[in-house]
Formats: sequence, C-alpha cells, structure tokens
Amino acid sequence: MKTCTQCATGFEILAKDQAFYGKMNVPEPNLCPTCRSIHRLSFRNEWSLYHRKSNLSGKQMITMYAPENPYVIYDQDEWWSDQWDPLKYGRDFDFNRPFFEQFAELQKVVPRMSLNVIGNENSTYTNYALRNKDSYLIYTADFCESSCYGRVSMRGAKNCFDFDFVDRSEFCYECVDVYDSYQCFYSQDCHNSSNLWFCKNMKSSKNCLFSCNQINKEYLIFNQPVSPEEFEEKKNQVLGSYATLKIALKKAQEFFLKNPVKENENLQCENTTGNYLSQCRNTYDAYDSSQLEDCRYVSYLYNCKDCYDWDFVGNKSELCYQVLSSAYQLQRCIGVMNSWDVNTDLFYCDLMLGSKSCFGSIGLRKKEYCTFNKQY
Ligand SMILES: [Zn+2]
Repeated sequence: MKTCTQCATGFEILAKDQAFYGKMNVPEPNLCPTCRSIHRLSFRNEWSLYHRKSNLSGKQMITMYAPENPYVIYDQDEWWSDQWDPLKYGRDFDFNRPFFEQFAELQKVVPRMSLNVIGNENSTYTNYALRNKDSYLIYTADFCESSCYGRVSMRGAKNCFDFDFVDRSEFCYECVDVYDSYQCFYSQDCHNSSNLWFCKNMKSSKNCLFSCNQINKEYLIFNQPVSPEEFEEKKNQVLGSYATLKIALKKAQEFFLKNPVKENENLQCENTTGNYLSQCRNTYDAYDSSQLEDCRYVSYLYNCKDCYDWDFVGNKSELCYQVLSSAYQLQRCIGVMNSWDVNTDLFYCDLMLGSKSCFGSIGLRKKEYCTFNKQY
C-alpha cells in the first residue's frame, strides 16, 4: 500500500503493476488512481465550445479554447497548412529549471488547432472527432455518418440521433449503450438487435416493446409473447402523441425496476474488473472499454495491450502510460496527449502526429529526434 501525496488515500500497487512500471522504466506513482485520472482529464474539454478569433488570421471560429485561454489557436485549415512551422518554436532545455515549467511555456506559444478533429467531411461542429461525414454536434466520435447530438461512438454510427455510447449501429434514436444494432429507440444496453422500443439489456432480439433481459427473442411486450399484429398495434398506440410517448417512458422505467439487473455490463471478459467492458483479459479498473489485455486504470479505450492510466481512445496501441485523448498505433508513449496516427517513443508530448522518438515536443507532424521542438 502507498498513500496518495495529494489526497492521503491509500492505494495498492500489485506485483503486476510493479512489473508494468519496471517494463516502462518509470517510478511507482505517488498519486492515487483517482487523482491521476483527475489530472489527466483536467486537460480535456470535450463539449464546451467558444467563439474566438484565430491568432493567425483573425478569422472568427468555433473552438474548444475559451477566448481568455492563453494558448495560440489557429483555425483548422490554417493549422494543417504550411503557413507555420512548429520547429520554429524549438528551444534548448534548461537543465537548471524544472521540466514542466518549461513545457508549459512551450505549450503557450506553439499553435494549437481550434478543435481536436481530423479528416471530417461536412461535420463542422464536432470535437475529439475523427473521419466523420455529414454529422453535427457529435463528440468523441469517429467514423460516423449522418449522425447528430451524440457522444462516444468510436467505431461509427450511421443515421443515429440523440445517443450516448452507440457503436456500429444504424437508425437509432435516444439510445444508450447500444451496439451492432439497427432501428432501436429509447433503449439501453442492447446488442445485435433491431426494432426495439423502450427496451433494456436485450441481445440478438427484434420487434420488442417494453422488454428487458432477453436473448434471441422476438415479438415481446413486457417480456410476454405477442403476435406481430398486436406488436404493431401497441407500438403505434404508444407513438400516437408526445403525451403517450411520455407515459411509455415512465412505464418502461417502472417495468425495468421490477426486473433483476446484472451486477455489471461486462461481456466476454476474463480476469477483469470494471464496467461496460467487452472482450478484455487481465484488465483491472477499466470502464467503457473493449479488446484490452493487461491494462489498468483506463477508460474509453479499445484495442490496447499493456497500457496503464489512459483515458480515450487507443486502437492498436501498446506499452503506453499516462495518455489522454490519443489514438491509433501508439507504441511506448508516456505522458502524451492529443496525439494520433502512429506515434512511437514519445515522452511528454502534446498534439503529435505520426512522430517518433521525441521528448517535450508539441504540434509536430512526421518528425523524429526532437526535444522541445528542436531537431537533433
Ligand atoms: Zn489521491
């Protein structure tokens, strides 16, 4: 057991944790997992967008940085253009001053993109969003199409509105934690299903209304079998007006309360603790994540191996520690945030794309051997 130097709470360091810290060549943490998570997430602003002028052109833009924020912010097109060179901000590291003081100074001068987005098409008002098309006001969303007012869809939603945690699904509305599904409405915790209305915890089911905890079922109302005609009639009755819809939502909640609830929402997991996990192995204290192996203290992460202390997003990444809002093939990265598209051996870097072997650097694209944005 260790005691957190910030909140004085005790926390454990297991033999497997020690093995990970040893493999990463980092000291054991002095802060508890919660304080570490608070530190990381304090650098993430997902949904609060502001009006602000570009520091390069003066162009009015929508940005995740408040006008009083001291960073230098460029409009998307300007940031991606050749109008500026991140190496121009390169400087020597002063061994007589603390690292983080100097890193914070560099963060204040290297231009940042107005929103953390890459390759979106006709999807302007999004943040932490990658390769979406014709979408609007979606956050932490990648590969979505024609979807609006949603949050957390890391492998794509199509024609989905008003959602949280909806992935690989189409034509869903007012759904939470719905995966691989089609035409689901006002439903939660459903997988591989279609035409569900006011349902909860359904797997491989279709044409159900007010039902929960079912696998491989169809034509149910309140978990009771009905004919297709009865199902259609009742459904149309419920959707007759906003008043009947409001009553239906209340009825569904009352019905769910009368039924047992699973201790967690983990699926196909082995030797794992946390919640809303799927296909994870030897992974602990993980949430809203999938396809993880030997990971701990992570959230919103998928397809990673040997990673600790990482919130948001992962994908084909390995041996990373203290990472935030970074995705796609990160290898051996420590203390990295806002970095995408194949990064290797980065240490304390921010906003890096396709780079390797860099230390204390910011906003570099396809660079290697840089320290404090200076090329070596
Ligand atoms: Zn603490």
